[in-house]
Amino acid sequence: MKKIAIVGAGLVGSLQAILLAKKGYNVEVFERRPDLRKANLIAGKSINLALSDRGWKALELAGIAEDIKAISIPMYKRCMHAVDGTLSYQAYGKEDQAIYSVSRGGLNQKLMNLASDYENINYFFNRKCQDLDLKTNTLTFDNSESKEQENRIFDKIFATDGAFSAVRMRMQKSSLFDYSQKYLDHGYKELVIPANEDGTHKLDKNCLHIWPRGEFMMIALANLDGSFTCTLFFPMFGETSFDSLKTREQVSDFFNKIFADAVPLMPTLLDDYFENPTSTLIMVRCNPWNYQDDVLLLGDSAHAIVPFYGQGMNCGFEDCTVFNEMYEEANGNWDGLLSKFSNQRVPDGNAILDLALNNYVEMRDLTADPEFLLQKKIEAKFSKLHPELWLPLYSQVTFSNIRYSDALKNGEAQNKLMQEILKMDDIHNNWDSEEVMEKMLSLL
Ligand SMILES: Cc1cc2nc3c(=O)[nH]c(=O)nc-3n(C[C@H](O)[C@H](O)[C@H](O)COP(=O)(O)OP(=O)(O)OC[C@H]3O[C@@H](n4cnc5c(N)ncnc54)[C@H](O)[C@@H]3O)c2cc1C
Repeated sequence: MKKIAIVGAGLVGSLQAILLAKKGYNVEVFERRPDLRKANLIAGKSINLALSDRGWKALELAGIAEDIKAISIPMYKRCMHAVDGTLSYQAYGKEDQAIYSVSRGGLNQKLMNLASDYENINYFFNRKCQDLDLKTNTLTFDNSESKEQENRIFDKIFATDGAFSAVRMRMQKSSLFDYSQKYLDHGYKELVIPANEDGTHKLDKNCLHIWPRGEFMMIALANLDGSFTCTLFFPMFGETSFDSLKTREQVSDFFNKIFADAVPLMPTLLDDYFENPTSTLIMVRCNPWNYQDDVLLLGDSAHAIVPFYGQGMNCGFEDCTVFNEMYEEANGNWDGLLSKFSNQRVPDGNAILDLALNNYVEMRDLTADPEFLLQKKIEAKFSKLHPELWLPLYSQVTFSNIRYSDALKNGEAQNKLMQEILKMDDIHNNWDSEEVMEKMLSLL
């Protein structure tokens, strides 16, 4: 039986460990940090993530979806906060369709606990992967407890060590490995809306709250303890930027003017703003994701994307589903499996990065644009009339398992068609007329 290593005990690493253990493999998981369950070190404690269908599918495959549902909060719609405090709502999908807010640290901890129930999964903490000898499949770890280096040989290695993957860096030195990285010129900062005294939420917890402000935005997702984690996505440099807001007075003036309705809900705003780090957003593309039949990148190590479609983790979880499906198809034969996986999956990793970049513009700018909202209303009406002909792009990405690369193509075609529809006479008053619906049918 093959010995398998997983480098990185984050979200994708722990899930992949469970899926491999279910097949009977002995899995050893190496993590550079201490055990966040014992060290009370819930990594990225405040970050919460939107979990959607692709993620759920993988969790179901692992038989743990119900455990995760118990720690997540459904969000059925976007709630947009205008500058004057007016609220408007946009459903994400059909009535019962939701994306789910879940704490990244809480989810990571839960996945580790569930993985630890398997006798054939063993975690090794405080092991930072330093190097990988691709010829011999030897992983080198720095043990931060013993201060010694450890060399371990494995039959198969899965690298789930995130956007700055040490394994990927080693693969970059092998020939014909393509790699590119780019930082977004916007970064982010986490802020908090605490719970009411009785533990209830100050805003509707079943919405993803957005303060779209053109060049930037703030969002808020509910936590189980009644609080919300807010994330300000903002230019790093420039006239209105993290760089330009230097004093408490400047930050206070800015928030009072731009996010006035949120300020009374954020009593620790100024302390949070100056104490919490300003983080950057990196995008990584690479190809191939495998090294021969031995090493495979999964999750952010293969495709670090910007968070604006809420798909980074979902895509990583889908990697696990797709790998599992291919493994089953091959009846457990590993020959050529990793390169087949990489060939199929790289275009999807690239597509979700493009989709996520486009969605930043949609979230921060277009959700406040009447023309865009009109387009979405027409699409929703048409989709209700002809669900077999029109699945909105958001639903293709979030509520389906259509390949990301197909969703990207479909979305471009849909958008082209909608530009024709928006040119129709008096479309603002006739948007739900039979004529408009007929025209859409004819253009399809
Ligand atoms: C602000 C923000 C919001 C986001 N929102 C969403 C969202 O709403 N929905 C969504 O689906 N995704 C979202 N994401 C993306 C999501 O967080 C990532 O895609 C996901 O965490 C990737 O999981 P991973 O397991 O591949 O990597 P990670 O979660 O980064 O885990 C990597 C693990 O490897 C360990 N490690 C790193 N280097 C080494 C080494 N050399 N040796 C050993 N161990 C190592 C790390 O300590 C870590 O435990 C968001 C990201 C950000 C930044």
